[in-house]
Amino acid sequence: MAERTVLQRRCDSLAASLCPPVPWSLDGFVNHVRDLRDRRILLYAQPLPAGVSSFWFRAGPADHIVYARDAQSPHHRDHLVMHEIAHMLLGHAGIPLGLLNSPEAVRSLHRGTVENEAEVLARAIAARWRPPRPQPHVDADVGRVMRTYDYSWEVPPYAWRGQTICQR
Ligand SMILES: [Zn+2]
Repeated sequence: MAERTVLQRRCDSLAASLCPPVPWSLDGFVNHVRDLRDRRILLYAQPLPAGVSSFWFRAGPADHIVYARDAQSPHHRDHLVMHEIAHMLLGHAGIPLGLLNSPEAVRSLHRGTVENEAEVLARAIAARWRPPRPQPHVDADVGRVMRTYDYSWEVPPYAWRGQTICQR
């Protein structure tokens, strides 16, 4: 099986197991993951240096997510937070505290396999649980261009399959 497919299946399965509260809200999702992991998750909207849109770190009894205050839309903000939560759910390390004062170090850690994994899981969570945002219809080619600049943009046709009933 292609590596991409293995990753997609793993992420789809992990996303399906989450069962966040319905209807979707970012706070509801974050609190749900907090309860699953039994660790507080605190969010901070901050101005961030170029090339960094969000990151997370562990400190004390909580995990902390910092995301760009100028996220283009609530949908984009949700996506940034879901991406960081995806890192946590996949067991990826947060940014080491000693590197947090170096934007270059933070940028350099936002590359490679773990980034791809977090992105696939964030999109799988969105596809499973978050209703698509109202979006003007654009041709698929244009949608792909939009996605290049805004990871929260969904290429039509939407991947959303509808919220699943969970056994709670
Ligand atoms: Zn990341």
